Amino acid sequence: MQKEFYDPAKPDGQNSSIKEPISHNGIGKIGKRYLIPARQGRAVRLKKNQSIFIHNIRGNQVCDFFALIDGSESEFLSMEHTRTALGRVYVSKGDILVTNRRRPLIQIVEDTSPGIHDILIACCDHARYQQLGAVSYHDNCADNFRMSLLAINVPIKHIPSPFNIWMNIPVSENNGKYSWEAPVSSAGDSIKLKAYEDCIIVMSACPQDMTPVNGLGVLPSELEFELESF
Ligand SMILES: [Zn+2]
Repeated sequence: MQKEFYDPAKPDGQNSSIKEPISHNGIGKIGKRYLIPARQGRAVRLKKNQSIFIHNIRGNQVCDFFALIDGSESEFLSMEHTRTALGRVYVSKGDILVTNRRRPLIQIVEDTSPGIHDILIACCDHARYQQLGAVSYHDNCADNFRMSLLAINVPIKHIPSPFNIWMNIPVSENNGKYSWEAPVSSAGDSIKLKAYEDCIIVMSACPQDMTPVNGLGVLPSELEFELESF
């Protein structure tokens, strides 16, 4: 059987994430509120010591969050290395998330939600929705990541595991099993993340509507973000 060549940079389908970047090079204006439409992604450049606020407008929406070192994108925020650094499978305010070279990259500076986030689960992708029973293309965070970066002309070779902000994946203390639960965040909650290095942030308003990770009986919704100065 002939092997199928897998190009991690190539989206399996498309939405407006690929044609509506916040600017041609992903540089944002400090203090301006940017929209991440429901089911889409956006990329933004964040400078060392600068912070980004991400706002959960309706309260039920998960944000798949990625960060790559600007100009050296093969170094990226890594959940497996972060779990090693923290010695935990949950994060909390004050924690520093690290790269695949074990360098500090993102700190959780403020968090108005109860602090339930996920660092275990891979982002949703085309294959995941096919497994869940989708019969046609379904928006997904892997493609949103690819398209958001293509939109600002940043090539990628790999899709990291995301920091899943507001995603509620409780792990049993008895047997290590986990379940997929609705977020416990509220409308208007926000999280403030500070960069330790110049990086490119990609956020995807997760389009998952086949499991309850974005809330029971509610549609995936929009997010907003803004950059704070140093
Ligand atoms: Zn997703």
